[in-house]
Amino acid sequence: MPRELIYADNAATTKMSDVAFAKMLPFLQEQYGNASSQYSLAMKSKRAIEQAREQVAVGIGAERNNIIFTSGGSESNSWVLSSVPVLFGNKGTHIITSGIEHHSVLRACHALEQKGIDVTYLSVDRVGRVTLDNLKAAIRPDTKFVSLMLANNEIGTIQPIAEIGRYLRDKNILFHTDAVQAMGHIPVNVNELYVDFLAASAHKFNGAKGTGILYKRSGISVPQIVFGGEQEYGLRSGTENVAGIVAAGYALEENISDMRGTANRLVTFVQATIDGIRAKVPNICVNGDPENRLPGIVNIAFENSSGESLMHLLDLKGICVSTSSACTSGKDEPSHVLMALGLSEKQAKSAIRISYGKYNTMQEVESVIFAVCNAYDKIFRATSNL
Ligand SMILES: *Cc1c(COP(=O)(O)O)cnc(C)c1O
Repeated sequence: MPRELIYADNAATTKMSDVAFAKMLPFLQEQYGNASSQYSLAMKSKRAIEQAREQVAVGIGAERNNIIFTSGGSESNSWVLSSVPVLFGNKGTHIITSGIEHHSVLRACHALEQKGIDVTYLSVDRVGRVTLDNLKAAIRPDTKFVSLMLANNEIGTIQPIAEIGRYLRDKNILFHTDAVQAMGHIPVNVNELYVDFLAASAHKFNGAKGTGILYKRSGISVPQIVFGGEQEYGLRSGTENVAGIVAAGYALEENISDMRGTANRLVTFVQATIDGIRAKVPNICVNGDPENRLPGIVNIAFENSSGESLMHLLDLKGICVSTSSACTSGKDEPSHVLMALGLSEKQAKSAIRISYGKYNTMQEVESVIFAVCNAYDKIFRATSNL
């Protein structure tokens, strides 16, 4: 009998919602019109895109024409960051980000440095928080732009974006947030956050892979990224991913409608996981902010263990968790996020990230706890026999 898979890696990607899946299907078959054509088949695609744009806009307190669809969170982040030299020039431009951003932000910043832009990477405290005071101390007369993530994908820590955004708006410094992990999981409102740009990704909130969102505040421009038929307000040409866009609208709407209930369940799952593992395995260290955190993500470091080995042993039991971020796994490097928290390389390499989503059950959580404790025991016995 094939074992049931237990998926506890929802920070890497999520299963599609049934509703979003059903709503996207017609646009792959019966309603395949190109949204730019003039007959009624095409109009259906056009209308569906605009309806999704409205759903996303309503979801984050934006106007419909502030929403641009992209191919994913990485593209949205890269697009905003690569706009910096176009908006402000290469020389005499200083920008600020943090050391725990997603690689789509960090590597875009490295590319900007190559062009002569000055970048400050803010450090974070032991729980992964950037503070307003830290940020204030880094601001210079030539600071033009700040990019900080709303919630971290490895440890779940939520940054004080609203507080920072309000300060930056007063200073006339443009502010971008990577909200990929937050969208559809915690309330996100672009006005309350005082952000000028925001990136999100549908596959992280039960939509389809390959659809991203870029929010851009009215009156603020980004340079055109794709040339052609002038789709997406002339900024990102190319025939639209109608099905993915439609799914994004419905998936976000659905997640927002039962956000509070889902979050309450996930918090219970995470607490049970911490308590259950701690009861059997001494000296675990839970990384991230115990208070300001995403409901479903927990990152745990173990004594004298290896996250890589734990992950593989769990995989043999049909349980999907992650060592740190999916993007860095496969390389034998400790997570840049855990290192920034001040963990040793050994501690950082011992950690696993368990991330629950709305389709997980308490029964699955119990299986995860049991399997993690067993796997740790195996590793521990193997190493102490040496
Ligand atoms: C997943 C993720 C991204 C990248 O999104 P894609 O749609 O997979 O390109 C960016 N930032 C964060 C915080 C993420 O978790």
